[in-house]
Amino acid sequence: MKTAIYPGSFDPVTLGHFDIIKRSSEIFDQVIVGVLCNNAKSPLFSVEERVKMLEEVTKDIPNVEVQSFDGLLVDFMRQNHAKVIVRGLRAITDFEYELQLAQMNRVIAPEIDTLFLTTNLKYAYLSSSMAKEVAMYGGDISEFLDPVIAKQVQEKYQALQEDRECK
Ligand code: ADP
Repeated sequence: MKTAIYPGSFDPVTLGHFDIIKRSSEIFDQVIVGVLCNNAKSPLFSVEERVKMLEEVTKDIPNVEVQSFDGLLVDFMRQNHAKVIVRGLRAITDFEYELQLAQMNRVIAPEIDTLFLTTNLKYAYLSSSMAKEVAMYGGDISEFLDPVIAKQVQEKYQALQEDRECK
């Protein structure tokens, strides 16, 4: 059985991420979406919330499962007997960082390879942080996120706003 892991922050999952998940589920027998816990970028959503959101959007793809992980990606890969890391490439700006990451992982775990899927052109500009920025100022995020996720992002910003008003 060929298992791949698609790691990331997914804060929150966008339609661009979903496109990569769907396509990799057609290439591999099993795809594990790995949600990174020890994230330097103080996330908007907790890791439990991010896992739940990913489970919701992938519920109709039977060979996809979602797990959170902490620590080194290659250790998580080994625990799950996965030999391929899937990453998405949007623009040349992603390339340098992704190349460095792939090479570093290859040095520390030579049995593991990274497979890059190029973004669907429709989502080439899209990132979780851009979607959050639009949402923060009350903009329409329906082009970027699944409706279930968009609703949760709007609710999160509303709650944060109310919190601020109370103080
Ligand atoms: P990270 O913090 O590890 O970059 P992200 O959640 O931002 O995590 O992204 C996870 C992966 O998905 C990365 O490989 C990233 O390049 C890719 N990705 C993000 N947005 C898109 C998109 N719109 N289209 C294709 N790939 C994407």
